[in-house]
Amino acid sequence: MPSGEQDERLGEQVLEHVAEIAAGRCSITDATIAAEPDASSQEILAGLLMLHEDLEYGRLRQVTLLQDLRDAVRARDEFLSVASHELRTPLTTLGLQVDGLPRALQQQMGSLPENVSRRLGLIGRQVERLSALVTSLVDVSRISSGKLQLSKERADLVEIVRAVAERFGDDARRSGSALVFEGQGPIWGEYDVSRVDQVATNLLSNAIRYGLGKPIAIGVAPDGDRSRFWVADRGIGIPPEHQTRIFQQFERVAPATSYAGLGLGLWISRQLVEAMEGTISVRSEVNAGSVFTVDLPRGA
Ligand code: ADP
Repeated sequence: MPSGEQDERLGEQVLEHVAEIAAGRCSITDATIAAEPDASSQEILAGLLMLHEDLEYGRLRQVTLLQDLRDAVRARDEFLSVASHELRTPLTTLGLQVDGLPRALQQQMGSLPENVSRRLGLIGRQVERLSALVTSLVDVSRISSGKLQLSKERADLVEIVRAVAERFGDDARRSGSALVFEGQGPIWGEYDVSRVDQVATNLLSNAIRYGLGKPIAIGVAPDGDRSRFWVADRGIGIPPEHQTRIFQQFERVAPATSYAGLGLGLWISRQLVEAMEGTISVRSEVNAGSVFTVDLPRGA
């Protein structure tokens, strides 16, 4: 064959092989290489075969790494699930015992000495704190494994949020913050009461924690076929560049030395709100305070 035709044929062959390799296949074999009449064609085909083998090796390696990564994530999720459930059982018992202790002691001793009831109060609050942390871990495990389930019922949003505000009266007083509830009910809708309560609880406990003892407002309002509730503090605030990442898992801004926390509350809140087809957002200014707003549909 004249050399011009040979070059043309080789060019076509190379293009076909490149297309094949790009699709993850290769029909070049040692025999096809040996059948080539000249050394440079053999070299080109051998090079293409090597390229294919390298790409295949890389692809297989990627598949193995991905599988390893999936196994590691599954092992972590399983550990989190087992550990958080195992922790919850004894903590629940401990909480019930601690709750019943003041009454049992009072029955035996008459009135309780001031320092004993103060210490019992402290133990009770620490058990509550531990339970809340463990509940966060249980939630993370449920959300990560796609097992979060909502249970909606007809309820008044004003009542749900007001109940949270009332529950936090003592905590707010202890931190020095005056707590004001804003909202007139009822705002009826289909809500998952315990999940809405959980989100409001997260936001209000953050407001107390980061609120520098200044006044806090928690409010509810209707908004067409939707409804809103918000928690506003006048505390440390959040720099603009961190206002998005605080809704991600384990992300924290406040220094860990002054403020303890896992960086999970807002991530869990966002997951819950989005599962309820709502949105959660923040407006904040450093040293002036933050307003977290949750917007929810009222219908099912
Ligand atoms: P945690 O408070 O346990 O660290 P969160 O997910 O609830 O976790 O909050 C993430 C971070 O967002 C906090 O570490 C804190 O830096 C910031 N943050 C949340 N709420 C407020 C608030 N009301 N004021 C100032 N910073 C806040």
